Amino acid sequence: MADDDALLTTDIAVVGAGGAGLYAALTAATAGASVALVSATPLAQTASYWAQGGIAAALAIEDSPERHLADTEAAGRDAVRRSAGDVLVSEAAARVADLERLGVRFDSDRQGVLALGLEGGHSVRRVVHAGGSATGRRIVRQLSALAVDREAITVIEGARATSAWTHDGRCVGILLEDGRAIRARATILATGGAAALWSRTTNPPGSLGIGMSLAHAAGAQLADLEFLQFHPTAVIGVRGREGFLVSEAIRGEGATLHGPDGQRFVEELAPRDKVARTIFQLLAETGATSVGLDMTDVDPARFPNVVAALADAGLDPTRERIPVSPASHYMMGGIVTDLDGRSTLPGLYAVGETACTGLHGANRLASNSLSECFVFGARAAKAGLDEPETLGGGSQPPAPPPLAHPSRATQEALWRDAGILRTREGLERLLEDPHPLARLIAACALKRQESRGAHQRAEFPEVDPGLDHRHAIVGDGMEPRLELWH
Ligand SMILES: Cc1cc2nc3c(=O)[nH]c(=O)nc-3n(C[C@H](O)[C@H](O)[C@H](O)COP(=O)(O)OP(=O)(O)OC[C@H]3O[C@@H](n4cnc5c(N)ncnc54)[C@H](O)[C@@H]3O)c2cc1C
Repeated sequence: MADDDALLTTDIAVVGAGGAGLYAALTAATAGASVALVSATPLAQTASYWAQGGIAAALAIEDSPERHLADTEAAGRDAVRRSAGDVLVSEAAARVADLERLGVRFDSDRQGVLALGLEGGHSVRRVVHAGGSATGRRIVRQLSALAVDREAITVIEGARATSAWTHDGRCVGILLEDGRAIRARATILATGGAAALWSRTTNPPGSLGIGMSLAHAAGAQLADLEFLQFHPTAVIGVRGREGFLVSEAIRGEGATLHGPDGQRFVEELAPRDKVARTIFQLLAETGATSVGLDMTDVDPARFPNVVAALADAGLDPTRERIPVSPASHYMMGGIVTDLDGRSTLPGLYAVGETACTGLHGANRLASNSLSECFVFGARAAKAGLDEPETLGGGSQPPAPPPLAHPSRATQEALWRDAGILRTREGLERLLEDPHPLARLIAACALKRQESRGAHQRAEFPEVDPGLDHRHAIVGDGMEPRLELWH
């Protein structure tokens, strides 16, 4: 890597050091590339670090990639892009094996056979985990230790990317807020999701969709922004633990949900969109603010970090029900990419939650997102190395434009107007929001005049079969178009 104070030149620039960015950086470095890895936040503030349940991969004897694909498609509500689903289910098991080779220790039995968890929408135990529900933390710690040790990887922490550096219709690198720039053959955005744009969220505060915003500003297409998954069981009304996620894997081990009358009211392991919507409806009907998650029959030793976090907040899950309600959790939409992470802007790639391959359709199958980070992170790193070497842009990078930060009012507006049940009136109000990404979300949600998966419209309560496999694409400007993806 050529180096001066303000301009670094490298083969691959990776923006974001969650699971997707770390894995892409390590894959590129292993293939002989020089890599600059930029992260705005400390490692503990990535969604990857917070991931609890695990990584979905068809590893059980009774499982198969075909079965994993069928579950992914059923959860995705006739909107999963088959080609992306195929790649994920075919390659996830190999990525789990790679992670083990890289030193991640997953939970296993005495014979060394991986222990597999069960989560909503999976027809078979399929979720590989580590430290019970400390999966993300274990993976991120190990991968970041390896990245820091690799000579080929220059880690730039505490730096925020604000703009793609473009020249002659291609991305030639990335501009940082502090005035530095990185020139690269391929720039891989691994900047995570956008769920923290909503005021009630399970996500770390940095999940603001910055990668999506800067890709769109540079001319890359975005898609599926109306598909934002609400997690059914986030703690509510408990000081210091607002929005804390209680993993679905705990329901997989037998935890049950109870309404204000103490009765069970939902099939706990139905896909997330259904469970979240049923809770939302019950709360609206009864005026209650939470339902109770009963995990008294679940072995607390199986989920030590969840139990400890609840205990810190004064809750004892071995004796009492935990107050939970839905919270914004996962952005299915993002930067449009092909199966190798290429965006529609040459030289610019996207992987992990910021990308949209169409894999998750209208409702992500639990634990498919970590698998996605590793499967598509590796593919993008390899594809990026085939990009032509570029010296475009000259030696003087342009000054970076300022970043648009969402205000608290924008976050509250998204929760109110693009929440679990959306109305035309609310979405039209959101079209006027000062934050550009909030406006694009509203435009996609208005375009989809139906209810499907995570996107529920009061005026259009049914699925419109004519929109099966159609995705809302936003390119230049604001008006989305619906495109058929296979
Ligand atoms: C509480 C919780 C539990 C979850 N549990 C699971 C689970 O069990 N299984 C599963 O599959 N999924 C789970 N998910 C979802 C999953 O964790 C995420 O989808 C996935 O980790 C996203 O990884 P990522 O690498 O794309 O982004 P992240 O891990 O969010 O990392 C984003 C990175 O980008 C950096 N960044 C952002 N903007 C900029 C910028 N402008 N400049 C520089 N750097 C920037 C951030 O600092 C960070 O380093 C969970 C999510 C949450 C919040």
